[in-house]
Amino acid sequence: MTELTLIPASDAALPAEPRRGRHLIGGAWRDSADGATFERISPSHGIVVSRSAQAGEAETLAAIAAARAAFDSGAWSRIPARARAAVLLKVADLIEAEVERFALIETLESGKPITQARAEIAGAADLWRYAAMLARSTHGDSHNTLGEDILGVVLKEPVGVVSIITPWNFPFWILSQKLPFALAAGCTCVVKPSEMTPSTTVMLGELLLEAGLPEGVANIVLGFGQPVGSLMASHPDVDMVSFTGSTAVGKAIAAAASATLKKVALELGGKNPQVIFPDADLEDAADAVTFGTCFNAGQCCNSGSRIILHQDIAEAFTARVVELSRKVAFGDPLDPRSQVGAIVTPQHRQRIDGYVQDALAEGATASLGGGGLEIPGLPGDFYQPTVLTGIRPDMAIAREEVFGPVLSVLTFRTLDEAVALANHAHYGLSAGVWSENVHTCLAFARRAQAGTVWTNTWMDGFPELTFGGVKQSGQGREIGRHGFDEFLEVKSLVMRVGRGTRAPWVKAV
Ligand code: NAD
Repeated sequence: MTELTLIPASDAALPAEPRRGRHLIGGAWRDSADGATFERISPSHGIVVSRSAQAGEAETLAAIAAARAAFDSGAWSRIPARARAAVLLKVADLIEAEVERFALIETLESGKPITQARAEIAGAADLWRYAAMLARSTHGDSHNTLGEDILGVVLKEPVGVVSIITPWNFPFWILSQKLPFALAAGCTCVVKPSEMTPSTTVMLGELLLEAGLPEGVANIVLGFGQPVGSLMASHPDVDMVSFTGSTAVGKAIAAAASATLKKVALELGGKNPQVIFPDADLEDAADAVTFGTCFNAGQCCNSGSRIILHQDIAEAFTARVVELSRKVAFGDPLDPRSQVGAIVTPQHRQRIDGYVQDALAEGATASLGGGGLEIPGLPGDFYQPTVLTGIRPDMAIAREEVFGPVLSVLTFRTLDEAVALANHAHYGLSAGVWSENVHTCLAFARRAQAGTVWTNTWMDGFPELTFGGVKQSGQGREIGRHGFDEFLEVKSLVMRVGRGTRAPWVKAV
């Protein structure tokens, strides 16, 4: 453990007082009627970062009613797409001007490194711009081949009121994978950020008003899954739920939404494998594996939490990953040198450790790490980069989402074995393959059960490329044109052309 690279507490200034968060309902900032609030304590620094209004049923119902009224009024859903795009572009500019202010609070609430938070906020502006472009290029189909007297048109229309429920691990990025796309389509929204990271969503709400978004089009309710998220998933005035979070909550949301058969888009957990063949650029692969394990302290749906190594290279490759992992800077998220910050809560650190200790008890070996980590001068929760070998495919750690900086190493001999191991999980979010042979890469990519397959890279993403999972990693897609289409309904319009062309049905007998 002493051989890890640690960044002690820096002298970076902390906010003098907690940020105050309120609900945004119908264009107005509101406290809860009963005055309830909740606090977020920084997982790295132990200070109270934010104190937010805690919604109950009354605030949630008011937000849904505001979104419904705004949608039905047509003030956003029926205006020209160019007007919607203009607002989204303005929001993108405002986000870019606020990167530093947003990044500080995101870091303190989530525990992630400040450089990563800055990249997340700045990168999100591009999602708003891309969504603005999609707004203006939306179109349906025309059918001019159905007969001389018929013209068919397929229209695209906004789904309606969308509930957006987000997690804590990439709060601003994930919100920006959903909200601008829903708005571009003409939907109105009720947004609930995670109770652990409410602030940047509220700050975005301020920018939305500044950019001229009409009142009631985007509403923000702060609080917990119960009663807020649950009501947002079940209320009959909501037409669609777009959720990112755990598979367990995703299933609860699908069940809650089923009574009204609303549309549900779910981005859930993953147990993402990378398969590494002996002919790969092994130095590049080892670096990417280290990145996939440690990025965001492994608290990442796309965490590369399993590697499947060809037996011939298993020992040397694992040793290289261990060596690289020792060099990754774990520590004060406010120090720009830190690459990995804190674990989101003490309970989650215990959960990660539970998986690791169970695996060790079942015969796994820790080639590196395997426990909590003290960062000098910081009270928060950290976990050591951990590499586990001797993993059998049936162990929980080989199949379940750990959500920590923990890598499970498995081995294979043939491509068939590698594919079987990769697909041996209930999840199917992403997968990777490393080989210099394009045939090997393609053979694996086509058989991997995953929404995204990376070849000779890991976790690259672009607004244009649709993202989502198969199996228990979710349903529906996000970003890209397919992700945008989730927020649109199609309607067929059948038009008879010309008078007297329709043969009468009622015949004189
Ligand atoms: P979580 O499921 O605990 O919470 C997510 C959100 O759901 C929060 O806002 C929470 O308040 C809300 N919620 C909780 N119970 C609810 C209920 N009954 N009804 C409605 N809403 C409810 O997830 P988390 O711990 O915040 O995030 C981590 C999980 O998210 C991991 O499993 C991770 O893999 C997943 N994730 C997936 C993606 C993806 O794109 N596939 C991206 C990021 C995170």
